[in-house]
Amino acid sequence: MRVLKFGGSSVGDAAGMEQVARIITGEYAAGPVAVVLSAMKGVTDLLITSARLAERGSMEYHGIIRTIAEKHNAVIDVLIHEGGRGPVSGAVDRLLGELEDFLHGVELIRECSPRILDLVMSFGERLSCELMTGYLVQCGIKAVPVDARDIIVTDDTYGQAVVDYKSTYANIKKRLGHLKALPVITGFIASSGNKVTTTLGRNGSDYTASMIGAGLAADSIEIWTDVDGVLSADPRCVKEAFTVRDLSYEEAMELSYFGAEVIHPSTMIPAVEKDIPIIIRNTFNPDAAGTVIRRRVKRSASSITGIAWIEDTALLNIEGGGMVGIPGMAARIFGILAGERVNITMISQASSEHTICLGLKQSEARKAVGALRRELARELKSKAINEFTYNEDLVIIAVIGDNMRGTPGISGRLFSALGRARINVLAIAQGSSERNISFVIHQNDKARALRTIHAAFFRKKK
Ligand code: ADP
Ligand code: ASP
Ligand code: MG
Repeated sequence: MRVLKFGGSSVGDAAGMEQVARIITGEYAAGPVAVVLSAMKGVTDLLITSARLAERGSMEYHGIIRTIAEKHNAVIDVLIHEGGRGPVSGAVDRLLGELEDFLHGVELIRECSPRILDLVMSFGERLSCELMTGYLVQCGIKAVPVDARDIIVTDDTYGQAVVDYKSTYANIKKRLGHLKALPVITGFIASSGNKVTTTLGRNGSDYTASMIGAGLAADSIEIWTDVDGVLSADPRCVKEAFTVRDLSYEEAMELSYFGAEVIHPSTMIPAVEKDIPIIIRNTFNPDAAGTVIRRRVKRSASSITGIAWIEDTALLNIEGGGMVGIPGMAARIFGILAGERVNITMISQASSEHTICLGLKQSEARKAVGALRRELARELKSKAINEFTYNEDLVIIAVIGDNMRGTPGISGRLFSALGRARINVLAIAQGSSERNISFVIHQNDKARALRTIHAAFFRKKK
C-alpha cells in the first residue's frame, strides 16, 4: 500500500488534474494506493481573501466565490463528459452554496474568528476531492471522496491544530483499512473532538498524507509536486539548485522548518515513527527519480546538503548586566514570549550571558517587545536589563546537512565566503546536533549570500 499526495501545484487546472489522474491510474494498476489531495492552486488563498472581505463587510467576496466557481467549472467543462456532469457539478455547486452562506454570516456579524476561517478554508480541499473523484470514476476507477474531518482528530488550535495520533490512527484503520474502493482524501483539514473543523497549517496536506501512511502502515508516502524533488535550495531563488537524491528525516525536517516549502515540517513525524520512506516526485516529470527521505542515507560527497531561509525576520536584542549569572532569566523571557504565542525561530546567546538574540517573525516583534516591557518592567527600571531593541528586514539562512556533524572547518568556509562577498552577519547559531548552522543577514544581501554559499559548497558538484 502506498499513499500518493498531490499538492495544489499539481492540480492547478484541467491539464494538471488530467495528469494527476493518469498517474493515479497507473500507480493503482500496480497495487493498492490511497490518494491525498490539496485544494487547487491558489484556492486556499482566495478563500482567505473572501473571508477577510466578508469580515469587512465588502461585497467583493461574491466575486471571489465566482472566481473559485469558474476555476472548478473550467475543469468540469474540459474533463467531465457532458452526460456525466450532473453529480460532479451538483457536488461542487452544493459546496459553493454552503460557502456563500457561511460568508454571508461572516458579513452580517463582521467577524471571522480563526475557527470560522478554518471552516472557510476547508472548502478548497473538499472541492478538489469531489472533482478528482468524479473524474477518476469517469475513467473507470472505483474512487470515493473521503473527508479527513471524519478521520483526523485534533485539538482546537485553529489554523495550526495539534493532532491526537491515537484516535487518528484508530480512525484511519477503521475507515480506510478495509475499503474496497480507492479513497481520495482531503488534505489539510481535520476536526476537533467535538467535530468542529480545524486545519493543520498552510501546506498541511503533506502532513495528512504522512498520517494516512502511518495509520495504514504504508510502504511509502509519495509527495507529488511541481519540482523534481527536494533541491539544494529553492529553485525560484537559486537557479543552480539541483535535486538531492537522498535525505535523512532530520535533514528534511531542518530544511522544511527553515522554509523549504516543498514539504511541511510535521510530515516527517509520523513517517519517522513507523520508519516509512517519503518520496518527493514531480507530477510533470514522473520519470525523474525524485528525492527519498528515510532513516539511513548514503553519505553524499558534499559537506552540506541544502540551504533554506526564513524571510521577514526581526532580531530582538536583550542585553544587560543584570542577566549575567542569574539562572532563569532566559526561561522567563521564553515563558513571556510563549504566553504571547510568539514563535522564536532562532536563539543565540553569547557565553558572557550579557546578551540574548532572538529571531522571530517581523510581524510579531512589536507584540514581543510590548510583552517583555510589561513583564520585565522592574528589571528595566533597575537597569538590570537595557531597553529592548530589534532590527527588521532580516532573513535567517540555514545551512543544513548530516555531513556537517563532526566535520571541522565548515563554519570557517561558510563565513569566509560570506566575508569575501562583504556580507554582514548579525547573529549566528549552531544547534548541538551540528546539522544546522543558521545566521542572520539583511534581506538585501539574501540573493548574493545564497549564490555565494551555493558556489562555496556545491561548485565541484556542478
Ligand atoms: P505543492 O502545491 O505540491 O504542495 P508547494 O508549492 O507547497 O507545492 O511546494 C513546492 C515548491 O516548493 C516548489 O515549486 C519550490 O519553488 C519550493 N521550494 C522551496 N524550497 C525548495 C527546495 N529546497 N526544494 C524544492 N522545492 C523547494
Ligand atoms: N491547501 C492548503 C494550503 O494551500 C494545504 C496544502 O496545499 O497543503 O496551504
Ligand atoms: Mg505544499
